[in-house]
Amino acid sequence: MRTGFHRNANLIIDKQAIYHNIHSEIERLNTDTELFMVVKANGYGHGAVEVAKVAKSAGAKGFCVAILDEALELRDAGFTEPILVLGVTRPQDALTAATFNISVTLPSNEWLKAAVAELANYKDAPKLNVHVALDTGMGRIGFQSIDEMEVALQLAGNNSQLINVEGIFTHFSTADSQDTDYFKLQVKRFKKFMAALPSKPRYVHVSNSATSLWHQECNGNMIRFGVSGYGLNPSGTELTPPYDLKPALSLVSEVVHCKLVPAGRSIGYGATYTTTDDEWIGTIPIGYADGYVRALQGFHVLVDGQFCPIVGRICMDQFMIKLPKQVKMGTKATLIGKNGQNEISLESVAQFCDTIHYEVACLFQKRLPRVYI
Ligand SMILES: *Cc1c(COP(=O)(O)O)cnc(C)c1O
Repeated sequence: MRTGFHRNANLIIDKQAIYHNIHSEIERLNTDTELFMVVKANGYGHGAVEVAKVAKSAGAKGFCVAILDEALELRDAGFTEPILVLGVTRPQDALTAATFNISVTLPSNEWLKAAVAELANYKDAPKLNVHVALDTGMGRIGFQSIDEMEVALQLAGNNSQLINVEGIFTHFSTADSQDTDYFKLQVKRFKKFMAALPSKPRYVHVSNSATSLWHQECNGNMIRFGVSGYGLNPSGTELTPPYDLKPALSLVSEVVHCKLVPAGRSIGYGATYTTTDDEWIGTIPIGYADGYVRALQGFHVLVDGQFCPIVGRICMDQFMIKLPKQVKMGTKATLIGKNGQNEISLESVAQFCDTIHYEVACLFQKRLPRVYI
């Protein structure tokens, strides 16, 4: 699909904000702890390659992604830094990962056997770097017991011409919460796993953004820094970050059509909104196909610094707002970000549609052009 450059809608990505967030985090880290920027899901909707460039200039030493193709995108763009795929890579793609020096997650012994069998098919295959995933309570992927982990280490050791255990890690499910009981339970389990390790691999890591912001003492020698690099508070509004996070993403468009609608006429599919007076109604050329979801009916956008309610349903490509007065075609409309004295945060958008800012950001589609400033 082509990017929609010929349209009045832009995602504006503030590179200085990303730089500031990453740099501020690196300043807090121990000198032996490296920051890997998480750029999965097209850099949380911000554009993976551009974000990776900024992250590198801010001091990131590597990258994390969710799927192999996201890693290959970075290699295609010329990045030679370490890259870790956090999700489960298909065993049949082990050679591709190894060939491009992309590290993958080792989630189970079943997976390891399949990956070893796959790599054994090729003569002189490069070694595959793996990070052992420990399931200390997330319940997603990884080893739940020391016994299983030991079987994996044994199997990897027996196949050391094919597999290199480069890292070991876990993932916390409640690091963004005020209540730390479950977090502490996961830490305790992780420490037991670590105590059973005969030797530590190159990377030991446990921290997503929330863990590094609020439980810094747990950081190993690498952190997987995601959402906060984009300037977003992983806890929503529950906890306060130790430094100022600057949101990097704005979504701006224009009023492409403005008209006076007489009282008693309806707006949009399903005729869910009816004017009670003569009303100035503006049309914004963004819709749910761009990732501006239907649940935002009744929310607002900013025009001339003023909040204007969204009236009627959000269509696939357009929606309507109620304006306080007539505006010229082309008047700026801010869907996310600052406009005059007011601001609409990604967090407020997420709250309105009962989700988290992570989801709102990564739903923005390719047909929205990303402009980097
Ligand atoms: C996505 C992800 C991260 C990054 O999390 P943030 O909350 O965005 O910092 C870290 N680790 C794993 C395993 C992940 O899947």
